[in-house]
Amino acid sequence: MAELVQSLLDQIRERHADNDEGALADYIPELRRVDPKGFGLSLSMADGYVYESGDTAIEFTIQSISKPFTYALALERMGMDAVDAKIGVEPSGEAFNQISVDETTKTPKNPMINAGAIAAASLIPGATADERFNQIHEFYSAFAGRELAIDHDVYGSEQATGSRNRAIAYMLQSFGVLDGDPDETLDVYFRQCSIKVTSSDLAVMAATLARGGVEPVAGRRVASAAVVQRTLSVMVTCGMYDAAGDWASAVGMPAKSGVGGGIAAVLPGQLGIGVYSPRLDAKGNSVRGTEVCRSMSAELGLHFLAHTRESRSTIRNAYDVEPGVRVFELHGDLLFAGAEQVLRRVYRERDAFDVAILELSRVDDIDDAARRMFAGMRESLVAAGKEGYVVDPDRVLTASHTAGFDARVYGTLEDALSATAHLGSGDSGG
Ligand code: GLU
Repeated sequence: MAELVQSLLDQIRERHADNDEGALADYIPELRRVDPKGFGLSLSMADGYVYESGDTAIEFTIQSISKPFTYALALERMGMDAVDAKIGVEPSGEAFNQISVDETTKTPKNPMINAGAIAAASLIPGATADERFNQIHEFYSAFAGRELAIDHDVYGSEQATGSRNRAIAYMLQSFGVLDGDPDETLDVYFRQCSIKVTSSDLAVMAATLARGGVEPVAGRRVASAAVVQRTLSVMVTCGMYDAAGDWASAVGMPAKSGVGGGIAAVLPGQLGIGVYSPRLDAKGNSVRGTEVCRSMSAELGLHFLAHTRESRSTIRNAYDVEPGVRVFELHGDLLFAGAEQVLRRVYRERDAFDVAILELSRVDDIDDAARRMFAGMRESLVAAGKEGYVVDPDRVLTASHTAGFDARVYGTLEDALSATAHLGSGDSGG
């Protein structure tokens, strides 16, 4: 099976291999000097298995793909409110290096343009630039599952040529967005842009985002689910320079590109993609990287808004196990819409039973929204003169905070049935 996926990947990559459109970034000599033919495609599955096709061992600088990760670190360290006070979440529709802030708030419009990224770097706590950068470096490395290195030549050149970023940093200082020394923050920002990655590193970093902050190879949590959700949201709306709308329609994965030629794309819950190809289009996105992501999305069905399974299929079966006792067998993943559908059906049929038994042994997962809805179910059944029991051998329902459920949860259908035998004798169980 692995060979099948490998050959799909090879075919997709080969189909775009001859495309030599676009141009290398040329604002510093190091980027101008890379081999324009380099082309690597990596796919990390949610369990950390990585498929590699082409030049997946070439290291290149992460550049702007650093932005979502430093933003995530700022959110982790400072909390949402503190970060939101300094950086917005609106697409700017401007070039990434535009010297601008939001007219009303006087803060950068989002963390994916340089102004927002420099503000995010300034929020990483630490007494010195070294201390702040070390946290960033460790954080990225944790996402990649290995220690990443720094390209000191690129760093030196970024420092030497960064007038525009300097202008942005001083502007932010004047608006009170940057506390402290703008040059120190810029130093941190230039270093973060100079961290070296391969396409496979990007794939694993993207898969870590896909897993809600759990690095898939070691299975270690490196960021909280709430921070990752926020980070992916700004990647959707602002991740691909000013081509975000085009990307969202054609590819449909939260993503970030960098002028080093990399793209990291995330399919939440499923996988991460890393591509490297250094020739860029007019907007600054890798030409072949974009094409490969389009093909992957179309051919492997990866668009995040693709219509998939309907929650209609939540109820597998419903039958009367004995007169007055109706069993509703549920399966799959129970989220809000599935739980709503179950509850509506149970209430609709309530005149036909005295006891409803929800059979959950085939339910894989259940989220808190669905748990809360089921927690209220028994109460309303009792109010209608009925009873509601649950068969939940793996305790998917009661795993967390639904203590109110424990009294009516059984390990097997037989146990639940023998409990129904007490009904009507005034024993309300407990
Ligand atoms: N170091 C570059 C800058 O800040 C990164 C640009 C990019 O990847 O978009 O200008």
